[in-house]
This record gives sequence, structure tokens and C-alpha cells, in this order.
Amino acid sequence: MANEQDRIIIFDTTLRDGEQSPGATLNVDEKLTIAKALARLGVDVIEAGFPRASTGDFEAVQKIADQVGTENGPTICGLARATKEDIRQAAEAVKPAAKGRIHTFIATSDIHLEYKLRKTRQEVLAIIPEMVGYAKSLINDIEFSPEDAGRSDPEFLYQVLEVAIASGATTVNIPDTVGYTTPEEFGALIRGIKENVPNIDQAIISVHGHNDLGLAVANFLSAVQNGARQLECTINGIGERAGNAALEELVMALYVRRGFYNPFLGRPAESTEPLCNIDTTQIYKTSRLVSNLTGMLVQPNKAIVGANAFAHESGIHQDGVLKHRLTYEIMDAKSIGLTKNLIVLGKHSGRHAFRDRLQTLGYDLSETDLNKAFLRFKDLADKKKEISDLDLEAIVNDETQHVPELFHLELVQVSCGDRARPTATVTLRTPQGEELTDAAIGTGPVDAVYKAINRVVNIPNELIEYSVKSVTEGIDAMGEVTIRLRHEGRTFSGHAANTDIIVASARAYISALNRLSATLNQTENPIHPQTAALA
Ligand SMILES: [Zn+2]
Repeated sequence: MANEQDRIIIFDTTLRDGEQSPGATLNVDEKLTIAKALARLGVDVIEAGFPRASTGDFEAVQKIADQVGTENGPTICGLARATKEDIRQAAEAVKPAAKGRIHTFIATSDIHLEYKLRKTRQEVLAIIPEMVGYAKSLINDIEFSPEDAGRSDPEFLYQVLEVAIASGATTVNIPDTVGYTTPEEFGALIRGIKENVPNIDQAIISVHGHNDLGLAVANFLSAVQNGARQLECTINGIGERAGNAALEELVMALYVRRGFYNPFLGRPAESTEPLCNIDTTQIYKTSRLVSNLTGMLVQPNKAIVGANAFAHESGIHQDGVLKHRLTYEIMDAKSIGLTKNLIVLGKHSGRHAFRDRLQTLGYDLSETDLNKAFLRFKDLADKKKEISDLDLEAIVNDETQHVPELFHLELVQVSCGDRARPTATVTLRTPQGEELTDAAIGTGPVDAVYKAINRVVNIPNELIEYSVKSVTEGIDAMGEVTIRLRHEGRTFSGHAANTDIIVASARAYISALNRLSATLNQTENPIHPQTAALA
């Protein structure tokens, strides 16, 4: 283990904890797309899901293990409660990976023991060797988490960890499940573990934490100073409640302030050797992908990946940055892959140049998806003179959505203005090839379009979020629309980009409705398009 102690292991749980964010539900293909991006980003471990939770989760973990868990790829991890059936399914799901891991957990705080597990400390101490030992008989790489460690009695925690390591755990993860501890307390907890668990040198100490008080990243960095070597984080910090520690913030703090953190990892302060394996230039792109697929928007002032993170508004700052970047910038936008909006292609660029550029951007499209994206590109090039990487990414993300298309938008037409009642006509095509048309009046053009779509689709839903932002600068920029809607307590998101924001709005709405219908079709009460009473 000695060689593992002088670097930081990045464990990404975007697909497990991140996906537990309200409304961030992803389908199997979307999870696979994100897993591929995480592999390009260079994460060491991908926690791909909780296989026992549902057949969809099992299938996603298995597919990711098979396609992303290659010899030189990341370790693929599946979560399991400390029960035989959970562990068996997790082992089964990660089996196709060259490097697989089971992550099993049981609560150790008195409050969880008493009210959730209804077990005594002795009973928990007996379950751990049995279950960790069982996991170890299936796979070598075992991570164990005492859930709610942050609120557990330290003395009991030390005993639990010693037993887990003795039973075969190679990583012990310390979760601040409720996001309650402060950096000093969390650092002291890790130091206490290092000092009081006799066999701790046989395992990597990992940390997991939530951002309820906005302290997750600070807690993790304090843990690093005290001996933690694996950080469990998510892209854009998404996750339950206020989210998890944000991968991009941790990685850039360790990168920009490596002089400060080096000595804690036993290196000379001036060492320029990276502290973790992340390719920071992939950060921005991965952030956008996760935001687009989950519908969880990044706030403009978010550290590292927010739209304003590298924008210098005030005149004094701009002047300083122009004279010398380091006057007000502590890091270069290029280091996270945010290049100046380079113009890469135009109207006369051919299919070959288009494919090449996409490959450079890391997109490996199937022939069908490439054709679809190329048609969209040609269409866009007619409307917009100069096309940048950001435009290309928006097109690809838009054209290669993995939601089965129950409804396809054939036509949308609106009339509006200060003297007109906003009126919309839409035509949708069903999988059976039927074209359904309807029209509606609304308070504005988008409202009219959504009302018309609802008349055709006829699935009750409530629009809870609508946002439009431009992909690039300029009057001819594409608009990206993200929407979230609610149906019987569940949230579904949709995303689309177009130079016409009404078209983008219609497509984003249809995309969310398709996602909703796909989910309904999986349950025993499938909803079929209502075909009666149509024009
Ligand atoms: Zn969590």
C-alpha cells in the first residue's frame, strides 16, 4: 500500500450519490456516456450505482463495467448494504470490469443503530466480519463504510474499522453522511483513526461528505492533511440534498495549491508532480455533459465551472488581467479546458472535418448519430457563420440523446407580439408514424407551445423549472433550454439547443415528456399516446 499513500485517489460517485439528487434520474445509456467522460477525465474509481436497488441500476453498473472498466480504465465499483444478496449482486454487476470493487456499508452511530437498524453495537460488530469476509470471497478490492461515522462514538468506530480491515477491507471510507462536521473536527476524526486503529496501514482512508453547510470540500482538504487518501466526490457537486463535495473544486484546490498540500503527502513543497491523476483540461466539458444530462444547472458563480468563474467584470480587474493575467487570476481558464471560444468550422467544412473535430473533442459517434449530428451542423452553418466547439458539443448532446423517442416534434409554429394573442401549433409524430396536430393559446409563445404539446401528449405534468441560456456570445448564438417537470412526485428533465429558442423550448419539453413516458412504460401502467379528439 505504501505507494498509494503519496497520491490522492479520486473516487467519483456522480452516477450513484449524484444520481440520487431529486430529479437527476439518468437512463442506462446516459450513465454509460457519463462513465466514458469520467474515464477520459482520469478518475481512479467510478461508483457506477447500487446494483440491488433496481434492475436498471444493475444493468447500468454491468454495462459500465464491461465497456469502461478496461485494463487501463478506472476501477468500477458497486454499492451494497451489508447483506449477502446486496453483495452478491454488486459482485455480479462489476464482474466484467478488469478492476472491480464492492463498496459495502452499515451504520455505526447510536442514533442510526437504535432507530434505523434496531441493532446493538455488538450485533453490528458481528455482521461486519461476516459480510466483509463474504465480499472478500467474491472480489479482492473491498471498500467498507461505517455510515454516519461523523456522528459515531470514535471508540466504537475504531473497533469497527479494525474488524473491517482484518476481514479484508482495502479501503475504509469515513462518511459525514449528514454534512454536520467542521473542517477541524473532520480532520481530527481522520487523525484519531490513523492513530487508534492498529491495522490502519493496511487500508486506504477515504472520505465521503455532504455539503449541507457548504463545508464538504473544506472538510475533505482537512482530511487530506490528516491522512485521507481517497476523496469521494461528484461532478458539479450534485447529490442528495445540498450535494456532495465537488470534484472540480477538490482537484483544482489540490492543483493550484499543490505547494501547500505537497508536504502532507510527504513531498517537497516545490514538487510540480500532480497530486492526482485527473486531466484537468477535461473538467469543463465533463461538467457541461453532466449538467445537460441530469438537468441540474450550474449556478453562474459556482467555483471553477460556473459561467462567471473566469469572467472579469470590473474595469480595474480587466485592466490588471490584460497587463498580467496573474494579477487577479489564480488559475488559467485553459487549465480546466475552457478555451477561448475558438471558431473551428464553417459552412464549407465537410463531413470529414466535422468527424475529426468531434473525435478531438472526445466524441466517438456511431454512423447513425454522426449522420444526424452532421445534418444539424449543416443546418446550423446556414444560420450561423462561425461554429465553435461549444456549438458542436451542444449539437452532439442534442442529437444523440438516449431517451427513446415516443413523440417526435415534426413542426412547431407560433405567432405572437404585443398586439397578438400568443398562439402555437404543433405536430408530433408517434412511433406508429401517426402525425398528431393541435393548437393552443398561451400567456406567451413558450406557454402556448407547451399547452399545445400537452393537448397532444395528454400526460398530466407540472412545469417546475424553465431556463434558457446562450451557448456562445453573439446575436446568432444558439439557445440552450433546460426544463424540469413533475409527474406524481417524480421529476424529469429535458434539454435542447437551437438558434430558435421556441424550437429549443419545444424540443426540451418533448425530451422530458419522452423521458417521463419511458419510465411510465416500464411500470405496469403504461401510458399510451392519447389519439382521440385530435384535429
Ligand atoms: Zn452520500
